[in-house]
Amino acid sequence: MRDRMVVSIVRFALPLAFLVCAQPSSAQNTTHTAAQPGAPDGVGLLFHKLELLLQQNNRDDFPALLSTSDITGAEAEQATDDLFSYETTRAVVQERDRTQLESALPGDGYHVIVEIMTETAARARVLTARFDVRRPRGGDVDSWRIIDITRLTFVQGLYRLRLDTATQYAAREFTIRAQDVQFTLHSGNVFQVVSGEGVTGLILLGRGEMRFSPGPQTEKGQLRIFSGSETLTTLFGAAFVRVHPADFETRVDVSGLRAMPADPRQAKRAQDVYAVEAPKSFNIDLRDLSRETWYILPQTGDFLAEVRTNKFGTLTYSRSGGNAEDVTLFDRSRRRAISLYASPTTLAVRGATYNEDELRTYDVIDYNVDTMVYPDRQFIEGRTRVTLRVQADAAATLTMRLAEPLAVTSVISSDFGRLLFFRIRNDDSLIVNLPVSAQRGTMMTLDIAYSGRLPTQELDRETVSLQGQQDEDVDTEPMLKGEPNFLLSSRAAWYPQNVVTDYARARIRITVPEGYACVASGQLTPGDVSLRDAATMTGGHSYVFNANQPVRYFAMVVSRMTPVASTVTEAHGRSNQLAINVLANPRQIARGRDIAPVAADIMKFYGGMMEDTPYESLTIAMLEHDVPGGHSPAYFAIINNAAPFSRLYWGNDPSAFAGVPEFFLAHELAHQWWGQAVGWKNYHEQWISEGFAQYFSALYAQRAHGDASFFAMLRQFRRWSLSESDQGPIDLGYRLGLIQGQGRIFRAIIYNKGASVLHMLRRFVGDEAFFNGLRRFYGDRKFQKAGTDDFQRAMEATSGRSLQRFFDRWIHGTDLPTLRYSSTIRPGEVTVLFDQDSRMIFDVPVTVTLQYADGHVQDVLVPISEAHVEQKIPTSGTVRDVQINRDSAALARFNES
Ligand SMILES: [Zn+2]
Repeated sequence: MRDRMVVSIVRFALPLAFLVCAQPSSAQNTTHTAAQPGAPDGVGLLFHKLELLLQQNNRDDFPALLSTSDITGAEAEQATDDLFSYETTRAVVQERDRTQLESALPGDGYHVIVEIMTETAARARVLTARFDVRRPRGGDVDSWRIIDITRLTFVQGLYRLRLDTATQYAAREFTIRAQDVQFTLHSGNVFQVVSGEGVTGLILLGRGEMRFSPGPQTEKGQLRIFSGSETLTTLFGAAFVRVHPADFETRVDVSGLRAMPADPRQAKRAQDVYAVEAPKSFNIDLRDLSRETWYILPQTGDFLAEVRTNKFGTLTYSRSGGNAEDVTLFDRSRRRAISLYASPTTLAVRGATYNEDELRTYDVIDYNVDTMVYPDRQFIEGRTRVTLRVQADAAATLTMRLAEPLAVTSVISSDFGRLLFFRIRNDDSLIVNLPVSAQRGTMMTLDIAYSGRLPTQELDRETVSLQGQQDEDVDTEPMLKGEPNFLLSSRAAWYPQNVVTDYARARIRITVPEGYACVASGQLTPGDVSLRDAATMTGGHSYVFNANQPVRYFAMVVSRMTPVASTVTEAHGRSNQLAINVLANPRQIARGRDIAPVAADIMKFYGGMMEDTPYESLTIAMLEHDVPGGHSPAYFAIINNAAPFSRLYWGNDPSAFAGVPEFFLAHELAHQWWGQAVGWKNYHEQWISEGFAQYFSALYAQRAHGDASFFAMLRQFRRWSLSESDQGPIDLGYRLGLIQGQGRIFRAIIYNKGASVLHMLRRFVGDEAFFNGLRRFYGDRKFQKAGTDDFQRAMEATSGRSLQRFFDRWIHGTDLPTLRYSSTIRPGEVTVLFDQDSRMIFDVPVTVTLQYADGHVQDVLVPISEAHVEQKIPTSGTVRDVQINRDSAALARFNES
């Protein structure tokens, strides 16, 4: 998903113009024949004639293509008006699908789906229509005639943009403003970019200055990391700006511009900037209909600027209404969001927090994925049936996410037959056009066929920046050596899916070549591993996985693996048994056997603690990577074992715990509850996956290895939290460390600070309220997405106290408290004093440890929730020493006063 955040400014409802006889198509009941390759047959010839007539605006000869006995004069006139335009400069007619016409003898009549693109000088439109064609018995290739035309979908609003190089506008202190940003051309020249609707863009050349000052405090902090200042002020030599033509009329003050004939050198510069910057956005891929660059217009109120700054390279600013976070500053070359937030206008509409699910157009109920996988070539060929329900008030288009390298061959709806679709260049979007606007609640099934080369998804934290908010629970760095595997998970968009993760059930059939095995999200259906009768893959095996419980995203991994162990452990909830299977790469077979009982123990422990086991089976793939780590989609987990020849040093990382050998396994398995069964409602809430999984793995370490292991983990959580916490709050999600390109910062804060905060919360509200609250939160949000506010509510309910300040400080804030303390030892009593900054009070439970002369040790929990706290601790002997925060549980800095 490249540049999703920026490209998603292409927020379209493609205008749906005239229309529509949306007759249910019979397409799904009939066999489809591909259009004949090679020399055109009679049908092909007929459409070739139509194409020529359209090109020549030759209306007069069009009726000759119609069957006069089937089409009345009035109908013919209407069809002519629909298809022909005097302004047409180019036309393309592409046959997409052909099925036998019921009323004709075999081979003598067809329903033919065609796409017709007609272009004028400034714009284009695409019509999808069903033509029924027939020839008389025994007729020759020239005897085919059209007997009926049904318009299916129609798309207009595609524009050809043009840079006006004839006129330049001399500018002095020319200023354009958008939300929190101002572009001033102190002196220079402006060129206009025109569309059929008016001016939609500008090229600014000369001595320019960009001034960007985001409102939110967190964003100021991120901008400071990026530029050294909370306001970005930078010079630029060139910029490209896009707006809707109506906005240009009303919002751009052109009074300071002086028109003059263009200087050829300036015009050439403007052309160079335009050629590079314009196609980066609002650009539609029309596949074989046109090789030209076609654009849609930005929505009114939206704004985009590609700014060639002197210091920071090209920065992209965009304001895109309708996005939950409508203001972005983006560095395309490094694929990093620098700023991403909601403007006050958007905040007023949507409130302080949002659930990405509420913004989606539709809800997927079920996926049926059938994919052939060629791991050597990293090539897949798939067909997916998506059953969905429209969630928006009305939907004229459905946008899906599918990896850009996958070429889509067809989108067929159960109700409408073949549908028109588009891809957006440089983006994973697949936009499906509906013939009629679908109302809320409409159920629909889309059958989508696609294929292409898709690189394996690397488990690479450092490149989280590439993927933005869709990134999932990937806990390691790239494999450099070892047994190769082909992993396609949440980032890969390897099947057509909703634009945000979407809980759905699925049946997934994956066919792999001889010698390979596959693990995917779902329970492997026994006996379904069978030879596939596909000629394209001789000797392959099919695996069928059923996800009977809702899953957020589906993943698969193909590698050379063999089944090495299977066991059963105690489960809670729907079933009291959980089946665990382990597959392993050849060199990992022994480890795979060893891990099965440990996995069983971990799953039993978590299931007991949560009183629920979300998925009915678990498969573990023991793979090889140069660095240890893992990944845990629903129903399975990948554990990467260091390949024998790994030379990377990994120990000094926030998520390496030397003393806890099964750390990665325990962390990954916890994701079945956190991250999978309960998802995060937007990227700000990623800690609900990673922080919770991290804390659960510490709880398991404590149960398996005792307090020493647990305290060692707490110590490491604290150390990393202290060292990296000034990089941003937990609720910055994947953006932590993004600007610097350091995944370590993300892990330090989301994983370790997140886990530490959970432990403090537990000590703040007590074990009973904490674990009840966890179960309540989990139960409320199971198979849904959740946010910190949901968690806070659950914890407030079970603890009976307000936790607003706790979450404000620890999750939404960046600062950590500094506590000054002193202790006084008197006979029979120890007094401890704590002070913190009264302007920003934290709730921090602190362990005070009394060391008695006789060697025994007493831990006392002192809850600190005020600026000044004095606690008297009765003692039962001679106290030799008082220690503060011995267990590293408090995320505070301590100064003895
Ligand atoms: Zn994780």
